[in-house]
Amino acid sequence: MIPPVLLTFFVFVFGAILGSFLNVCILRIPLGQSIIRPPSRCAACGVQLPGFLNLPILGYFMLQGRARCCGAHLDPRYPIVEAGTASVLAALWMLYPPELFAIYALLVAGLIVASGIDLDYLVIPDFLTLGGVVVGICLSYLFPELQGKSDPVDAMIRSSLSAAIAGGSLWLVARTASWFLQKEAMGIGDAKLLAALGAFLGWPSLPFILAVSSMIGTVVGIGILKQRKQKLGVKVPYGPYLALAALLWLLGGVNLVAKYLSNNFIQII
Ligand SMILES: [Zn+2]
Repeated sequence: MIPPVLLTFFVFVFGAILGSFLNVCILRIPLGQSIIRPPSRCAACGVQLPGFLNLPILGYFMLQGRARCCGAHLDPRYPIVEAGTASVLAALWMLYPPELFAIYALLVAGLIVASGIDLDYLVIPDFLTLGGVVVGICLSYLFPELQGKSDPVDAMIRSSLSAAIAGGSLWLVARTASWFLQKEAMGIGDAKLLAALGAFLGWPSLPFILAVSSMIGTVVGIGILKQRKQKLGVKVPYGPYLALAALLWLLGGVNLVAKYLSNNFIQII
């Protein structure tokens, strides 16, 4: 038998390697390049990197944040994505049974790539958002426990309805805000992303995700306004806040809300 601590460490290492692959996806998918070939190259000068310098997380620190070939600064986002993926996967592994862990790991990988591309280009590719809706509904049929159900058809219906409610409500908010401001306030891509989150996590997660993402968005937005003195109404990527809120839901928000509801239910009685 493998001790649980060692197993969690293996999941952490797997997460770091996965994070390194997600960095490649964030860089190459928007450019329409293959995510498998060619092997990693220096982003500044194009020299092919020797394998050992591709070591996730540690590679960046071994190189002291500079490319060995040409001395260009390496983006600290690489080790952050690698360490973040590793930590989140290890936490999910400790919180959930293996099937749910695998599904949530897939969701988190998709959210990290979507957030990275949204930060760089202010768009999220449809195959990640609409693809996420389809995958979420299919996985709910195959693993009904994802929706807290035992019947596959029930779970699939809940997943589909949740996706429709999520996408529809945020689409309505986006349209209303755009109408009031007389310009595009929020991308439709964000509505599609929330639909995918609904398909995976079910409708009970939606109030939490909307509330937490808008809180994070407000705090970060005020920070950006102060720092850059930007005008209000400049389009900002909202996808990363939705992704972060969904992550907080998976890492404990779900239990907090359940506890809050049960406490208040008892008080009402
Ligand atoms: Zn270089």
